[in-house]
Amino acid sequence: MTTPECEIDRAVQRLRRGGLVAFPTETVYGLGADALTPIAVARVFAAKGRPAHNPLIVHVTGREMAERRVCEWNDAAERLARQFWPGPLTLVLPRSPDVPEAVSGGDASVAVRCPDHPAALALLFKFGGPLVGPSANRSGEVSPTEAWHVRESFPDEAEVMIIDAGPCQHGIESTVVMLADGCPRVLRPGVVGVEALSAALGRKVEAIARVGDGGVPGPGRAGGRLAALSPGLCDRHYAPRTRAVLVGSDELDDLIDEFEGEGVVLITAGLTDREGIAGIVQMPFDAAGYAARLYAALREADAMGGRLIAVERPAGMAEPSRGVDGPSSCGTKQADLDRAIWTAVADRLARATRPWPSD
Ligand code: AMP
Ligand code: MG
Repeated sequence: MTTPECEIDRAVQRLRRGGLVAFPTETVYGLGADALTPIAVARVFAAKGRPAHNPLIVHVTGREMAERRVCEWNDAAERLARQFWPGPLTLVLPRSPDVPEAVSGGDASVAVRCPDHPAALALLFKFGGPLVGPSANRSGEVSPTEAWHVRESFPDEAEVMIIDAGPCQHGIESTVVMLADGCPRVLRPGVVGVEALSAALGRKVEAIARVGDGGVPGPGRAGGRLAALSPGLCDRHYAPRTRAVLVGSDELDDLIDEFEGEGVVLITAGLTDREGIAGIVQMPFDAAGYAARLYAALREADAMGGRLIAVERPAGMAEPSRGVDGPSSCGTKQADLDRAIWTAVADRLARATRPWPSD
C-alpha cells in the first residue's frame, strides 16, 4: 500500500502547524507531532491522556538526525543503529538540551528510533525533523495495528489525521534499550531480543523487563529498577476493556464452567471446537504471526461482549527468554528471533491480563 505524496504533504502541513498525525510503522501506529515544539508535544500528552512521567519516543530519519538530539552518541548506539536501523529498536541516550524536557517526562535521557516503514520515513524526510510517536491509542488502551483502530480512539479527523497503510508488520512495540550509562539493558522487550543485542555489542545485555511467568515486575522486584529507569512501563497497559486472564490449557474447562460458558471469549492458537462460549478468536501458532495479530485479537475479543476474555497460553511461549544467562550456543538466528518475540508477547499479555482465579 503506497502512500500518495499529496497525503504526506498534507500531513507535513498539519505537523508544521503543531497538529497531530497518526502514521504507520512496522511495529504499531504512532501519534506523530513535532518533537521540538513544546506545544505540539503537550497536545500529544493531552490527546492520549498520557501521564506526564511517561516519556515519548523520538522518531528520526536515521543516525545523523538522532545524533543531533542526544548529548552523547556512544559506541553502543553506533553499533546498534548500524545493525538494526531502520527497525524496531529504540535507543535511550542522554538528551540534548534542544529536546523539550516534557518529551522525556522530565528525565535527562531521550529515546530515539528510526522506523522501518516507507510512509513513516517519507513523512520524517519531508518534515525534515524529529517527530514524537507514541502508540496512537488513548493511554492504557490496546495499541493500534490498523488505521481504523486509531480512528476508534480518535474519531475527530480535525484533531488527528491518519495515514492509512494497512496492518503493521510486527504488531508489537519496539524493543527499548537503555544506553545512557555504559551498562546496556533492555527496558521493554520486542522483536530485537537480548541475544541479537548481545551479539551486536559483543557483551552481555541484561533484560530488566523480564516477565513471562504471568507477573509484570512489581515494586521490590526488578520493577523497582524498571520504574526508576522507564516509568511508563510499570503502568497497567495494553488492556482490553473486558477483564482478561491468561490461562493454561488445563485450566480452561474450570474457567468456562465458572463463567457458565456464555460469559467467556477464548483467544487461542490451539485447535478447538468448543461450543457454548461467547466466541473464539483463532490465533496463528508461530511467534511472528501471533504477535502481529495480538492487539487486533484483543480488540475483536472485546467486541464480542463476553464477561471475561480467556487467553490460552500459547505453546511457544512456554519457555520465555533465557537472556544470555542460559545456553545460547544452541540458538539459531530463527530460534533467537522466535524467543525474542515470545518474550515480548509474554510481556504484553502479562500487562493485558490478570491472574486467575486470585481475584
Ligand atoms: P510508546 O511510545 O507508547 O510505545 O511508549 C514508549 C515507552 O518507551 C515509554 O513507556 C517508556 O517506557 C520508554 N521510553 C521512552 N523514552 C524513554 C526514556 N527517555 N527513558 C526510558 N524509557 C523511555
Ligand atoms: Mg503505548
